[in-house]
Amino acid sequence: MSFQDLNLNTPLYNALDDLGFTTPTPIQEQAFNVVSSGKDMVGIAQTGTGKTFAYMLPIIKNLKYSTQENPRVLVLVPTRELVVQVVDEIEKLSKYTNNRILGVYGGTNINTQKQAVAEGIDILVATPGRLYDLALSRVLQLKSIQKLVIDEVDVMLDLGFRHQLINIFDILPTRRQNIMFSATMTQDVDTLISDFFKSPERVSIAVSGTPLENISQTRYNVPNFYTKVNLLTHLLNDTETFNKVLVFVAFKRMADRLFEKLDTIFHDELCVIHSNKTQNYRLRSIEQFRNGENRILIATDVMARGLDIDNVSHVINFDTPLYPENYMHRIGRTGRAEREGKSIVFSTKTEQESIEDIESLMNMEIPLLEIPPIVEVSTELIEEERPQIKERNNPTKRKDEDAPGPAFHEKSEKNSKENLGGSYKFKIAAKYKKPKTRGDKNYNKRNKRK
Ligand code: AMP
Repeated sequence: MSFQDLNLNTPLYNALDDLGFTTPTPIQEQAFNVVSSGKDMVGIAQTGTGKTFAYMLPIIKNLKYSTQENPRVLVLVPTRELVVQVVDEIEKLSKYTNNRILGVYGGTNINTQKQAVAEGIDILVATPGRLYDLALSRVLQLKSIQKLVIDEVDVMLDLGFRHQLINIFDILPTRRQNIMFSATMTQDVDTLISDFFKSPERVSIAVSGTPLENISQTRYNVPNFYTKVNLLTHLLNDTETFNKVLVFVAFKRMADRLFEKLDTIFHDELCVIHSNKTQNYRLRSIEQFRNGENRILIATDVMARGLDIDNVSHVINFDTPLYPENYMHRIGRTGRAEREGKSIVFSTKTEQESIEDIESLMNMEIPLLEIPPIVEVSTELIEEERPQIKERNNPTKRKDEDAPGPAFHEKSEKNSKENLGGSYKFKIAAKYKKPKTRGDKNYNKRNKRK
């Protein structure tokens, strides 16, 4: 199949020519007619498969020229980096049209964005939070949205955007086409789809366990964090082979810890991205890695998913992902556009089960390499690796969960009263001038005496 078979228009053909693209990728081929038909769609596709154009080609083809100010197409993506990247892709495709495209995301001045919105837009790309704020400010009117694209739905839900998405659905016109893309099908994604969408057509290209063929994978068994650092350093010292390296870690804290260790050796070649870093810092890091200024980028799963960076020579999994799908995402960052890519994964003893899960998902074994003798095997352990010392059968030891913590709410009025001693009975007696208990035989006698 060629792009000619999709019956596009001249501006799109010219744009594709300029990009040097001749044949649609499988997801582009399959999604085109579904998106054109106006039906709801769920596409299962990894980044790197050409999914942005899979929805943008049919949308741009059918987007009529208009002078109205309110956007007609809304693309929601989970991260600010993706806003920038998707806007860039749409702009490339819109080179010969007059489409007005705008990207908005949080962490930057909202007033500048309000001004840009007021100038009129056709296609709006946004992160959910900032979109909602702009809509609430009423500068942004969503009543003309005809097509809603949610890209990377799985990441979106991972980041806890479910409520924000539902709020946005509430303020969008009900008559609209919904197009969703997810790299993996998760329980959360499934629930969202069945709760909010009308029997969407599913388009899927590869089982999420099928790695791209041009990625060669190897693995090392490494006993602990410090030995991993030593092995990584050893590999990275070969600057010629390891010329553009994406190092993955699961958690922000680990990203910072690893950055600290590598920074002393690879200072000028190193950058890091995770969600605690500022917007500008992340954008700068990605740009420096993309343009080759920095050779090594350390990233967490969520931050790097969806990033489109070319010519990554190696993906190094500093830890073994607990979810095999995350491994698929990580290695998909290399071997793009049919270039050769290499992936290496480090696993400790406790990570062996995860390696088995990954291998069974892919239905293949990852060749195991020996740690080169020159690499020092450390015995030093980080806090998380040290064995937990548990005191057993100590009856006087207070369990942690029983330890008194600070009060987390005010006491109720009744409970906050102090017990001053004395009996409730006396108080009632004083108030009613007689005991409330029945059958106090001495009551009258007592009162007569008074
Ligand atoms: P995506 O999966 O949308 O992030 O796209 C991955 C990369 O593939 C992007 O750099 C696109 O510009 C590129 N791409 C998209 N469609 C095609 C195509 N038909 N042929 C070659 N490259 C493409």
